[in-house]
Amino acid sequence: MASSGKRTRGPNKQTPWARNADDGVSVLRLALDTSDPLQRSRIEAMFEGAYAVTRALQRGVRDACRAYKAAPHERALDPAAVRERLGLSRTALEHRAYAHLDAAPHLRRFVTKALSMHLADAVWTSAERHLFADGSGKRHGMPRIGRWFDFTRLPGRARSHTKDKKWETFRLHGSLAGHRAAYTDRDGAFVQPRTLRPVHAKDWWRYQGPLAVVFSGLANNATLVLPVRLPTAPSNQPILDHHLADPSRWHRITLVRSRDPHADGGWRYEAHLMVLTQPYVSPSTAERRARMAIETADRSAGIDVNVSNVTVASHDTGAAMALTRIERDAGQRERAWKQKQRERRRARALDRARRAANRAQYQLSKRQEQHARRLAAAGRRPIEMIPKGPRNERGDGVPFQSYRRDALSSTYRRTRAEQARDAQAASRARRDHARTIAAEVVATHGYQLVVEDVSIAAWAASWGAALAAFSPGTLVSAIDREARAVGAIAGGAGGVVRASTRTTALSQHCPCGARVSKSLADRVHQCPVCKLTGDRDAVAAVLASFVTLVTHGNPSSAQVDYAASVDALREIRRLLRSSTSSSYDGWQDTLSESTGRSARDGSSFAWMTPTPGTRELLPRAAVARRNAGTARCSTRDETGFGQTTSERATMRTGMSPRYGPTRAYLRDNS
Ligand SMILES: [Zn+2]
Repeated sequence: MASSGKRTRGPNKQTPWARNADDGVSVLRLALDTSDPLQRSRIEAMFEGAYAVTRALQRGVRDACRAYKAAPHERALDPAAVRERLGLSRTALEHRAYAHLDAAPHLRRFVTKALSMHLADAVWTSAERHLFADGSGKRHGMPRIGRWFDFTRLPGRARSHTKDKKWETFRLHGSLAGHRAAYTDRDGAFVQPRTLRPVHAKDWWRYQGPLAVVFSGLANNATLVLPVRLPTAPSNQPILDHHLADPSRWHRITLVRSRDPHADGGWRYEAHLMVLTQPYVSPSTAERRARMAIETADRSAGIDVNVSNVTVASHDTGAAMALTRIERDAGQRERAWKQKQRERRRARALDRARRAANRAQYQLSKRQEQHARRLAAAGRRPIEMIPKGPRNERGDGVPFQSYRRDALSSTYRRTRAEQARDAQAASRARRDHARTIAAEVVATHGYQLVVEDVSIAAWAASWGAALAAFSPGTLVSAIDREARAVGAIAGGAGGVVRASTRTTALSQHCPCGARVSKSLADRVHQCPVCKLTGDRDAVAAVLASFVTLVTHGNPSSAQVDYAASVDALREIRRLLRSSTSSSYDGWQDTLSESTGRSARDGSSFAWMTPTPGTRELLPRAAVARRNAGTARCSTRDETGFGQTTSERATMRTGMSPRYGPTRAYLRDNS
């Protein structure tokens, strides 16, 4: 800012505020009530304005990146100077955002400079990933122009922890105590009506009533006030106390929207509140982890990941071996199949709606053509029909009219929104379920686990739907998180460690050290040397539990400790023999909040769900899952197209393969 010639007060004399890393960070999801049409129109206008700014920035960045790429000679001399010239830096991008705002006063009504600065930062992140390689030497592709339906978050500014009453963009006002006091009924129960009361305050900084997210600084002194809806279930109250009791720890709010065909305006809004505190851990979980940290300290475990199952084996220095196989049971498979059928019906309905609204873009099917010819031959009037044939396209497979220019009916949009909502619900339920299983796995097998370093994304190409239905990647990352949490208590390194396939070749060896070659189709391990027989995955998992890493964190330094495994051969034999019967601990099919048949995500904030174990006393309990719980991170990366879920990938029916195959959609980072 030196170039502006503005006089400043010089460097900050106080020590700048810095976050204490030990405090931790946790993100709480707060549902927002947008039933007030005035407030809803304001938040919608904010999203529209922010989208316009973002898109303008994205276009600018893309053009600059292209120019950067097109100047190899200049780049070879001084790449930093080229970036400077093209305005490829965070600051330059922020200034570009301000310029957009100044040039388009209508945007100023709903987008402030602070907000546009954060939008510019988000766009810069994607450009940065394109320009610079990450730790593994990989770079992202050219920054894209995001789509309206992928534009789901408005990043807010962190509050000042040194200056009082300084919190720009989105702020959270009110207090938890005030909220509970305002919504307590005569019997003393915490209840909230379907429509929350509107919130007003003259001085927000003194306001202590029900919680609300506030954004002031809009044009004409308008203020955006969205009442917060808290989960009322008793089990959620400790989570709220943990995050909301101390307002000085509230740090930053990101506004997130998700599509919901049943919400007014078609979108549902949430505030993701970042709180400077450790993520909430229930007393029972903390107690379990502390116990496991002591009990399983000497256990080492191995994981064998497969397309349809995950096998975990562990031993306590060669003794007390345990084996668990996690796979979907009949009930889950049936439910998955039904969901697939439902999804297929919906994909067909979407395709039909698209064809009906864009008849000129499609040809008649052979049968329809025949029918039309017959009518013409009989001298009858041709009838109007929805064409069922292929899309009109050029010789190289590019359609004459791009799909995004298609007219889409309201039925199409509603169905599409339902599909997006269901996909989100399904992945959330899968994550919830994986967490439960991870807790069981770590309790049985300890917190030091080894897994073969395989690329699950590569499997997706050949196994696709089967893999998405089981999602081993989600499971392994859940195990990793749980193991890390237990390891942190134990004071040692916990987690899932990766071992290179090249140095270990777990599926091709026997615990006795002999090489036993198997093709993918061979499901049984039979060693000609030591005569060990057992399930292929079980043997691989057992072998993985004997893997040691010479240098920590380097998968290619992994080696199997055959001396130890040979010593434990008798124990291994016993384990494999007992596990050939049905003694595997399966993926239990308990009805939980996420698997309960009535647990439908999306239609309302609270719904009825069966409560396991208490069926006689409490047949059904109201649970508000949507707005309970926490989010893993508030700032999802803005990558545009990439944010597709497995369910979405399968619906890309009727699309030309020109636009690429359905992408490898496992987004886990395990
Ligand atoms: Zn052997």
